[in-house]
Amino acid sequence: MKTVVIVGSGPIGSAFARVILGAADDVRVVMCEAGPQLTETPGASVRNIADTDARARARELAQGPQAGSHRASLGIPETVVAEGMFTARQGTFLLDFGGPGSAHCASFPAAAASTNVGGMGAHWTCATPAPQFSEKLPFIDDTEWDELLSVARQLLHVQSSAFADSPIGAAIRSLFEEEFAGELPEGFGPSTLPVAGDVLDDGSVRWAGADVILGPLGDPGHPLSARFTLRDLTLVRRVEHRDGRIRGVSVEDLRSGEHSTIVADIVVVAADAFRSPQLLWASGIRPPSLGHYLTEHPVMISTVALDGDKVGRFASLADLDAELSRRSLNAADPVSAVNRIPFSEPQHPFSLQAMYSETTPFRADLNDDANGNRWGYVNMGYGLRKRPRFEDTVTFDDGELDYRGFPNMTIDYALTPDEDSEIADAERRLRRAGSALGDFVAEPRLLPNGSSLHYQGTMRMGEENDGASVADPWSRVWDWDGLYVGGNALIPTATSMNPTLMSVAIAVRAARNVANTLSQRR
Ligand code: FAD
Repeated sequence: MKTVVIVGSGPIGSAFARVILGAADDVRVVMCEAGPQLTETPGASVRNIADTDARARARELAQGPQAGSHRASLGIPETVVAEGMFTARQGTFLLDFGGPGSAHCASFPAAAASTNVGGMGAHWTCATPAPQFSEKLPFIDDTEWDELLSVARQLLHVQSSAFADSPIGAAIRSLFEEEFAGELPEGFGPSTLPVAGDVLDDGSVRWAGADVILGPLGDPGHPLSARFTLRDLTLVRRVEHRDGRIRGVSVEDLRSGEHSTIVADIVVVAADAFRSPQLLWASGIRPPSLGHYLTEHPVMISTVALDGDKVGRFASLADLDAELSRRSLNAADPVSAVNRIPFSEPQHPFSLQAMYSETTPFRADLNDDANGNRWGYVNMGYGLRKRPRFEDTVTFDDGELDYRGFPNMTIDYALTPDEDSEIADAERRLRRAGSALGDFVAEPRLLPNGSSLHYQGTMRMGEENDGASVADPWSRVWDWDGLYVGGNALIPTATSMNPTLMSVAIAVRAARNVANTLSQRR
C-alpha cells in the first residue's frame, strides 16, 4: 500500500484526498491538520450550527493563537496565547496579531488564516464563480478546464438555484439590468451567484464545507474511509526529503507534544497561501519564486438600504411578506438572496457580489425608523484584480521564529497605478449600483489590504521551469520528486472572482496525476 500525506484539511487538501482515494485502490491517505475538529462530521461549515453559542465557540476554536480560553482544553500550551489580541473575521485570526511570534504585515494588515479541520472552508461564504477570460490558466485548454470545473462543482455541491426564486433577489437583478443596460456583454449581465451548498425543503441552504468534498471519506461505514486517516491537532513541522526525493513528514502531536515521522511516497502541501510556502521554506525547499507574486482582490464594499419605491416596481409588498416569513424559518442565516455581475473583459473587469439580507452587517444607526428598513439591505462589494509582481511577497526569516516555531513571515505588498485606476472605476460603478437600489447606509470604501481572504500567487503554477513559478501545470513542485502543492497560492493570473472553485479544479487535475504516478510506481 502506498502512502500519501496531505498537509491541511481545507477544501483543497480534502479534494486531493477524495480524488486520490477514488482513483487508486492501493493507496492510503493520511491528512494532517494543525487545528481541532469543530463539528461532528469533519469539516462542516460552522454557518450550519443553529445554536448561537455553539457557533461562536466553534469559530473561536479555529482562531489559532487567538483561540483564548479554549486552547487549554485542546492541550495547546497556554504560553502561546497573547492577551488582548483582536481577531479578524470570525473563525479566522490575523497573521499580524501583535503578540509574541506574530508575523509582520504592515502593508497587508488584514492577512488572516483559520486553523481547524476544514480550514477557512468551515467559515467561508461559499461563493463559487468560475474564472473568465484572462483569469483562466493559459496552459489548460478549455475542454479539459470545463471538465475539471464540472468535477469541482460536484465536489463542492455548487448550484445556482440558491434563493433563485426570491422575488426581492429578482427585483435587485432587474434594477441592475436597467442601470447597466447595454454595457455588459451577452451572458455576463446580472445573475444569481453560484454558491456551494444544498437547498433544503424550506428554501434555506445547508452550506458546504470540506465535509461535502470528503463525502464518503468522512463516513466510517464507507469502504473508502478505511484507507483515510484524518489526524487533527497534528502540526507538520517539516517535509522530509533526501537527494531531491520526498520521504515523508515530521509531525508534532499538539495534544501529547510527541514528535514522529510519517513515511510517504507523496506529500501534498495544502496549508494555505502563507503557511504552505512557510513549511516548504522551513523544510529547505526554496524555489526562487516561493512566496513571491502575492496577489489578492482589493475589495470595495458598501451597504445599501433598499428603497421600497424602486424595488416596488418589480416586487410587491406581498412578495416581501412571503420573503420575510421564509427567512424567519432560519434565523441563524440572515442572507436570503445572492446576486452578482461577473468579470468580463474589457467591459467589466470586476466581480460584483450583492447579498440581500434582513439586517446590516453592523449596528446601523437608523434614526428615522427604529425597526430598521422594512425592505432590508444589500451588502455589495466589488472584487478587483491585483497584477502579479515579484516584489509583492511573503519572506521567511530563519533568524526569527514565529509563535509556532517556524521562520517568521514578513509581507511586503503595494498597490500600483494599475490597481488605483480600477479602484476608482469600481467606486464609480458601486455608487451607480447602490443608487439604483436605494440609499447608502455605509458609503463605498476600500478595505485594508488582505481583507479579501483570497491570497494567491505565492506558489504559482507555470508552464516553464524558469524561476517564475513554483509548480508545474500538474501542481508538482519543480525539481522535487513526490511533492505536490495545492490552494489559491497556485493561481498565477490576476483574478477578481472568489478562488476556491478554481483551486479545487486545479487540485482535481493534480490529484489525478498523483494517482497515475503511484500506479506507475507499482
Ligand atoms: P484552508 O482552507 O486555509 O486550509 C488550510 C489548512 O491547513 C488549515 O486548516 C490550517 O490549519 C492547515 N495547516 C496550516 N499549516 C499546517 C501545518 N504545518 N500542519 C498541518 N496543518 C496545517 N472563497 C471563495 O471562493 N468563496 C467565498 O465566498 C469565500 N468566502 C470566505 C469567507 C470567509 C469568512 C473566509 C475565512 C474565507 C472565504 N473564502 C472564500 C476563502 C476560502 O475559504 C479559501 O479559498 C479556501 O478555504 C482555501 O482552501 P485551502 O484548503 O487551500 O486552505
